[in-house]
Amino acid sequence: MAEQAKPPKEKEKLKRPSTPRTAIAGPPNPSTPFPIRLSGPIVKGFGRGSAELGIPTANIDPSTLEAAGQSSVQSGVYYGFCSLPIHLSSSESTAPQFPNGKRPSEHALIPTSYPAPIAEEGVGEGERNRTTFYAVLSIGHNPFYANDTRSIEVHIMHAFAPHQFDLYGLEMRLMVLGFIRPEYDYDSLDSLVEDIWVDVGVAQGSLEREGYKRFVEDKWLADGAKAVD
Ligand code: ADP
Ligand code: MG
Repeated sequence: MAEQAKPPKEKEKLKRPSTPRTAIAGPPNPSTPFPIRLSGPIVKGFGRGSAELGIPTANIDPSTLEAAGQSSVQSGVYYGFCSLPIHLSSSESTAPQFPNGKRPSEHALIPTSYPAPIAEEGVGEGERNRTTFYAVLSIGHNPFYANDTRSIEVHIMHAFAPHQFDLYGLEMRLMVLGFIRPEYDYDSLDSLVEDIWVDVGVAQGSLEREGYKRFVEDKWLADGAKAVD
């Protein structure tokens, strides 16, 4: 918890630690500054997610952090829930789409399936206009900008069918609930990719806890009238 809420002072990046990853990050219940609610349309990034890392990330504008009064939140990897104004024909769980269908490493924390999205169940009738998903996200410095512009990149834990894959322009609602780790410097792309998939597993494990899971029913995410707080 101690490292969670500090303002960013991050000119030089930390070295990737050699200690093993833990399956869960953060305290049993969200604590300050969480939950952080961000919303905005999914915008174009630089295609880095899919092309370079093999993991798509839906980008939303970093000004959403200012709008939420959280512009000084620490850079790093976070977990939470997000929703999109779509209905899925099936809300079954899907499997991560690894590049070339190959698990990036044998790391035990890399998940073999995603949690099922939350579609109709969980809120009162007529209150759900959106589907809620588990999410892992990075708030980080964009290497393409020399200034302090950051990007917010959300991997939605769902393998969208090809005809649903293009999410640009949809309004995402994102509830950030916990911090996983700061940004590191990487020696190789492989170790970065492994860490991201482990982050997906850690996000999942962290969100499955009682103190977090209750937020899947949040009405702001579902587009109902009232938020769970
Ligand atoms: P960009 O640099 O434009 O963000 P990415 O390579 O990161 O491009 O791919 C992100 C895009 O892929 C999203 O904007 C969305 O349209 C699509 N997409 C499909 N499935 C997912 C997913 N599970 N999570 C995030 N984005 C996804
Ligand atoms: Mg992206």
